[in-house]
Amino acid sequence: MESLRFTLEHSEIPTHWYNVVADLPNPPLPPLGPDCKPVSPEQMGMIFPMAILEQEMSTARWIQIPDAVREVYRLWRPSPLIRARRLEEVLGTPARIYYKHEGVSPAGSHKPNTAVPQAYYNQQAGIKRITTETGAGQWGCSMAFAGQMFGLEVRVYMVSISYQQKPFRRSMMQTWGAEVFASPSKMTQTGRDLLEKDPDNPGSLGIAISEAVEEAASRADTSYTLGSVLNHVALHQTIIGQEAKRQFEKAGDWPDVIFAPCGGGSSFAGVAFPFVADNAAGGRNGKPTRLVAVEPSSCPTLTKGVYAYDFGDASGFTPLMKMYTLGHDFMPPGIHAGGLRYHGDSPLVSQLYHEGLIEAVAVSQLATFEAGVIFARAEGIIPAPESNHAIRAAIDEALRCKQSGEAKVIFFNLTGHGHFDMAAYDRYFAGELEDFEYPAAAIHASLEHLPTVA
Ligand SMILES: *Cc1c(COP(=O)(O)O)cnc(C)c1O
Repeated sequence: MESLRFTLEHSEIPTHWYNVVADLPNPPLPPLGPDCKPVSPEQMGMIFPMAILEQEMSTARWIQIPDAVREVYRLWRPSPLIRARRLEEVLGTPARIYYKHEGVSPAGSHKPNTAVPQAYYNQQAGIKRITTETGAGQWGCSMAFAGQMFGLEVRVYMVSISYQQKPFRRSMMQTWGAEVFASPSKMTQTGRDLLEKDPDNPGSLGIAISEAVEEAASRADTSYTLGSVLNHVALHQTIIGQEAKRQFEKAGDWPDVIFAPCGGGSSFAGVAFPFVADNAAGGRNGKPTRLVAVEPSSCPTLTKGVYAYDFGDASGFTPLMKMYTLGHDFMPPGIHAGGLRYHGDSPLVSQLYHEGLIEAVAVSQLATFEAGVIFARAEGIIPAPESNHAIRAAIDEALRCKQSGEAKVIFFNLTGHGHFDMAAYDRYFAGELEDFEYPAAAIHASLEHLPTVA
């Protein structure tokens, strides 16, 4: 019988993370402070421990994974690579479809891959408390779990609208010992100011980041952690693509195209970056593997944003980063249920896109849920709404193969399961979701507020 599931031993968990910076044609542009000068490690040291900052700025190709981190990874890693044979049959495609199942982690997504090392390095630096933000709840859960692994207190600012709509994500974080506040909250100046203007402010990721950063900057025993966007986060996630490469070797196959959902870019970076080096050398199949980031058409950062210096948060606390952005005061429409709401994108993903080394595509909301349901009925796993973006793109590619008769190898990152996202599926089944193309005029208005960099 042919294998459907390609697994690895604990001993095959990679020993190093891969740093794509070593293989970029051009060096990354530095983050800038309020004076438009590159931020110093001392300034960033207010919210991050030194080991994390070193990784953030590192140009080394390989960075060793601490044993204590690999030890926690063993709880769910290596994650399986699965051949979606039943999905292929349902679609009637000659393509071979594979996915990496990151939903097997305790928190149910790829995010613990970076939450665990971030907790470890903070504990090593003598930090006692972590502040962070969460939108849909996946990152807050991952950080709550990881904090527990290394004895850290975790405080999570959860976007208010999600706090109300996803009570079980909050219960999960509390089960792992974290404190959770609806953001904007009364805990910070940022929150108090916003609540005074509008007590019903639904919150946004940008606002929640501002609150978490404000608190971390005000206390020496407290650090801030971010679940996506930054270089060290992308670095930690490369464990996914490295495992996948070994698993494809075992399967005797190799991907022609890779799809991953793209919010801040970490799961895309994680699965795709390890293939960038192979692509630079011409690719293993004699041709490069196409690397495609899939974003929602309601938050089209790569496909409709501009490549410019912008803040990472709504209030302008963070350094300026050169990235694709829709403007830091971008507000995603309330009708959007599929996650991936961040206004910017990882500077590394942005640079690769700008330099033409990766591709991006935007998909509309209803089509993503339709794809998620097709996948769940064929393969059994109910995907996170974010993952549905990659599944949509993979299905579309498989259907193109059906037209052309090509037997391409399609690989996507199943970034998480959707067990705590069933309210979004309910809205889809009830016909309450709409497609929403973010209007060019609104993007233009938000881009007017981009900071000027001299
Ligand atoms: C957070 C999340 C994403 C999007 O974030 P990226 O940093 O772009 O990967 C995708 N899928 C799941 C399941 C998530 O939790």
